Amino acid sequence: MNQPSSGIATAVAVTLPEWVPGVVDGFPACTNDTGRMRLAITLARENVERGSGGPFGAAIFARGAPRPLAVGVNCVERLRNAVLHAEIVALMLAEARLGSYTLRTPGAPEYELFTSCTPCAMCLGAALWSGVRRMVCAAGREDAMALGFDEGPVFPESWRYLQAQGIDLEHGLLAAAAAEVMRRYREDNGLVYNG
Ligand SMILES: [Zn+2]
Repeated sequence: MNQPSSGIATAVAVTLPEWVPGVVDGFPACTNDTGRMRLAITLARENVERGSGGPFGAAIFARGAPRPLAVGVNCVERLRNAVLHAEIVALMLAEARLGSYTLRTPGAPEYELFTSCTPCAMCLGAALWSGVRRMVCAAGREDAMALGFDEGPVFPESWRYLQAQGIDLEHGLLAAAAAEVMRRYREDNGLVYNG
């Protein structure tokens, strides 16, 4: 590959840890919201236990589908990239899978994002631009803040804005299980990064 004379980087690779497909393939069919969130939380837990990143996982499903279109785990530390939160990774891989910059296309399934923790300001914006029609969150902003993660400028009106754009929101599904993964990460002295 030619080295650009300017010395700037011209590409970035976003890759999931190699264990992820095996965990997804071995996971039971997700027949309801609880199952779908269990997958997101399982990915968060495995990311911590296997030492591949922070305590966050996400999964994107077509509405009612038992298998995900895409998943994500936190890749910030492993890939040395501040924006690679689990939700961002899942959204990027979902759109790569569809070959489309939006998950909202007339006549196509509606897509739903399940995330193990309430999104930060960046991920909230990305969810808006992605075209997901529903977002379901487990642990709360306060759980992330308790670990020292800065969730950024997310305000009540931010949520209302998403809802006004046709994104249905649910909070607190399996919150205790997701918060437990985050607590474990802190007990193991996992890296807390804020850009
Ligand atoms: Zn985020």
